[in-house]
Amino acid sequence: AGTDVDAPLLDTEDSIEDNWRGVVDVIDSLLEKADACLDEFTGVIKKLSPTEEEQAPVVRKTSRFPTTYDYGPSKIPKPQLLFDHKPDNSDLGPFHPLLKTKPHAIIPLEKSLTQREINGATAYPHPYETEIRKAQYPRSVYETSPPVDYLSFGGTTATFVDTLDGVKEMLEELKQAKEIAIDLEHHDVHSYHGLVSLMQISTRNKDWVVDTLKPWREEIQMLNEVFADPNILKVLHGSTMDIIWLQRDLGLYVVGMFDTFHAASALRYPKRSLKYLLKKFVDFEADKRYQTADWRVRPLPSGMFDYARSDTHYLLYIYDCLRNALVEASIPKENLIDYVQGRSKNEALQRYERPVYDAGKGQGAGGWYDLLSRNPSPVLSKEQFAVFRAIHQWRDEVARAEDEGWQCVFPKHMLFKLAQVMPLDMGTLLRTLSPMTPLTKSRAADLLATVKEAKAAGLTGPEWRDIAPLPKHLPTAVAVDMEDV
Ligand code: AMP
Ligand code: MN
Ligand code: ZN
Repeated sequence: AGTDVDAPLLDTEDSIEDNWRGVVDVIDSLLEKADACLDEFTGVIKKLSPTEEEQAPVVRKTSRFPTTYDYGPSKIPKPQLLFDHKPDNSDLGPFHPLLKTKPHAIIPLEKSLTQREINGATAYPHPYETEIRKAQYPRSVYETSPPVDYLSFGGTTATFVDTLDGVKEMLEELKQAKEIAIDLEHHDVHSYHGLVSLMQISTRNKDWVVDTLKPWREEIQMLNEVFADPNILKVLHGSTMDIIWLQRDLGLYVVGMFDTFHAASALRYPKRSLKYLLKKFVDFEADKRYQTADWRVRPLPSGMFDYARSDTHYLLYIYDCLRNALVEASIPKENLIDYVQGRSKNEALQRYERPVYDAGKGQGAGGWYDLLSRNPSPVLSKEQFAVFRAIHQWRDEVARAEDEGWQCVFPKHMLFKLAQVMPLDMGTLLRTLSPMTPLTKSRAADLLATVKEAKAAGLTGPEWRDIAPLPKHLPTAVAVDMEDV
């Protein structure tokens, strides 16, 4: 009823088969509308607070139609160009952990950094694997005690840490704590692998916001003295990506973690997001629209600073409430604290590995196989499939070379559009890709040649369904339900 296209009449089961193209058109048009409504919806939210909108350089859609993101060149200079250790996206070797010393080691550093065979590939093991497995929560985690009240948010402020001396001072204070809360903000639009842009840390009486885009960012691994200390509890919410980001960018590992997401799971709460827990225990309304802001911006606008701070400010209080609930809900046969400890260990044991581009089978998160199987849009001919595959790889190569996200080359839906149209002349290419990102514009001739070549070769190539996927049990990237983070 809500569509503008002519809907086919479906009176028998067979008529669905016969009219599937028309069914797809109806669904496409409804999705377009839903997309437009979401645009308006976010627009309404932003309009509520225009001053804050100016402060938050979020990724904005350029207009209602077409639904393309504004992934043009950024006004913010790339911080990674100044890093002591600059990203090298052409390096496909196993990821070498950044660890230079290993505080709280059971297995010494040298032995923890020897390559071995892992899942059929040569790799470095997780350097804190033994320590994480052997760690035991302190006794206090298994006992109830009255929640320690958080300090007033408005009456206190966070310390912004953007010098190495500042990190050292913070470390000395963290060593005195029994438990600390940690969270990260991340940027992935103008970087191939992504950049940890901020690290928020809270104790019972202080908040810090650490700038992790400084040239010396890898020195921050000195915090392993606390992060790897099993006697200091680290409270994180939905730590899956944080664990990966910490080891990839900062060389940080977490021994003795309590993930409040898994605690909410164990307690079977109807929702497990931080937003829900903040509302339930603190009656605090989290303004999650900052989640996708460009966290590289400096100086940090006060709205973003406060948002970042609020992600850890109340977390130790929430931990107190959850711990008490878990202890009370535990039965001799099933200790829920142990459940949370086990789940948190699994998160902490994750190992970062560089994404390697798999041209042949298209495997991996963001690989062409995944994209095609999630978008069973119009069937692609052999030629169209060959073009899809070729431009998908082309996009990855450009993104790596420029150290940009894939979307900055061209957005996902353009892969499908280009494959369907298979432009063979510059005019058609420009029209198909309009609006064209600067990265693609400067390489348009190369892209055109890639399309032509792939189309010609595709005639005698495989159908996409003929390329068998890898068996499901092989490790694939973890899917994160953003609603829960
Ligand atoms: P958080 O722990 O909620 O502060 O999120 C950490 C980081 O995850 C953010 O800085 C974003 O980079 C990313 N992120 C979280 N939620 C979303 C989302 N809904 N969409 C895209 N990125 C997100
Ligand atoms: Mn987080
Ligand atoms: Zn956060």
